[in-house]
Amino acid sequence: MNLTGEQIIGNSFSKKGTSTFQGMQADSGIAISQPFYEATTEEIDQAVALAKSAFGALRKISDEKRVAFLEAIAAEINAIGEPLIEMACLEAGLPTARIQGERGRTTGQVLAFANFIKNKSWTNPIDDPALPDRQPLPKPSLFQKQIPLGPVAVFGASNFPLAFSVAGGDTMSALAAGCPVVFKAHPAHPNTCEMVGRAIQAAAQKTGMPEGIFSMIHTTSHELGGYLVQHPDIQAVAFTGSYRGGKALYDLAVRRPNPIPVYAEMGSINPVVLLSNGLAANGTSLAANFSQSVCLGQGQFCTNPGLIVIKKSDEAFLTDLAAQLDTMSMNAFLTQGIAQAFTKGCQKLDQHPEVKRYTKQAIPSPSLFVTTAQAAMKDQEILEEVFGPSTLAVVVENESEMIAFIESLPGQLTGTIHGTIEEIKAFPELIEVLSLRVGRILLNGFPTGVEVSPAMVHGGPFPATSDSRGTSVGTQAIYRFTRHICYQNFPADLIN
Ligand code: NAP
Repeated sequence: MNLTGEQIIGNSFSKKGTSTFQGMQADSGIAISQPFYEATTEEIDQAVALAKSAFGALRKISDEKRVAFLEAIAAEINAIGEPLIEMACLEAGLPTARIQGERGRTTGQVLAFANFIKNKSWTNPIDDPALPDRQPLPKPSLFQKQIPLGPVAVFGASNFPLAFSVAGGDTMSALAAGCPVVFKAHPAHPNTCEMVGRAIQAAAQKTGMPEGIFSMIHTTSHELGGYLVQHPDIQAVAFTGSYRGGKALYDLAVRRPNPIPVYAEMGSINPVVLLSNGLAANGTSLAANFSQSVCLGQGQFCTNPGLIVIKKSDEAFLTDLAAQLDTMSMNAFLTQGIAQAFTKGCQKLDQHPEVKRYTKQAIPSPSLFVTTAQAAMKDQEILEEVFGPSTLAVVVENESEMIAFIESLPGQLTGTIHGTIEEIKAFPELIEVLSLRVGRILLNGFPTGVEVSPAMVHGGPFPATSDSRGTSVGTQAIYRFTRHICYQNFPADLIN
């Protein structure tokens, strides 16, 4: 595939900007091939104007045509073949098997949305008939369903160059809902983005979609990203990345004259509560499996188990875990910036007077830090996400301190309990307090490896996300880009 580093604006390509940047090999920082042109405000205006007109056209197009479009996207991505795998590996520094799996997950996700909208029930129709004889007043007929919001801006993540990027769950759930997408490519993998962006563009043209259903812009300027979010014709925003980025875009969106929803998936340290009897029964295998989960994908998952909650009487487990982590090696990080942030985060914890480092390899390396609940509750900086293969154990004196500590936690994507069913039943407050802090609660498992499935919730209370009512994984993600509408006294043939 011939890549040109241009913006994809509907059916065309554009390079009006004068400044450029380049994609990098994640492991060496060496620049890859051609420059990418920074988008201009004029190009963003063009992309949004086309998206607006495509939205009008899409309202008149059947769901079946959108299904064909989504199916064509999956086919076009597969048709790129090995060059896509090779480029994503190069830009993200991830192994081939991981990227191959991620491609399968990406196309599987597209097809899951296609299947989901094949059934008309996806719009959640509610028929609420008239009661003409009701006293003292008759009741009108009411009919409720979901309709799309309009053009959506999507900011892709760095850590899933395929599954949370151009053709990731955010883009696909918006397109499935009938919302055109203006995608802001992540500068950590612009070549991979262009390959997938071109695949979506080709699919749109082959299936007769209105021009502007999909556009993609490149920029490293936060001002331009903010410009897109503030564009009056953008009706919603989806984002995956840092707290700082997500919160900045959220603040811009709510300050607009016409505020819009922002679904930002931000940081999470994903507490894992280890109970005594579970540890007594499975401690050795748990230490091995835990260290694998911490280091999976170089720890660059939003569901990485970054926090252990453990009783003082069970502290011996932490020595086993540290020994396991000391056998693990480091791989390339996604970007030089993430690598530097990992080293800085580990050094900050290492120098904290209330935190001890149990692992022995020199920083940066897979790390276990240990502190007390009292220290963590006093200084919330201890709990800041260290994105990478690192975890922090918080030692509690007893069950009541465990509950108090969990209640003090900011919102999280996941919470996990390891224990026997009997000891969990004897401690019902644990499930209760954890449920109120997280979007997904797991029993005797690990939070990494998010299933793409109808019942999945990849979301959670702030600051894990900016809106705890949504999920960015699974078919329910579509409802972030729809709203309720109620038709009163309408005959059925006028509203379908
Ligand atoms: P990021 O820095 O938040 O960037 C995500 C995207 O948003 C990029 O395209 C970025 O553009 C853009 N952006 C960031 N701040 C912005 C702002 N103020 N205004 C407009 N656009 C903005 O995330 P990242 O590069 O993927 O990784 C950095 C850190 O994010 C990691 O170290 C990790 O802590 C966290 N992270 C979390 C998750 C998660 O799933 N929750 C996933 C990945 C990363 P630029 O690249 O040009 O800045």
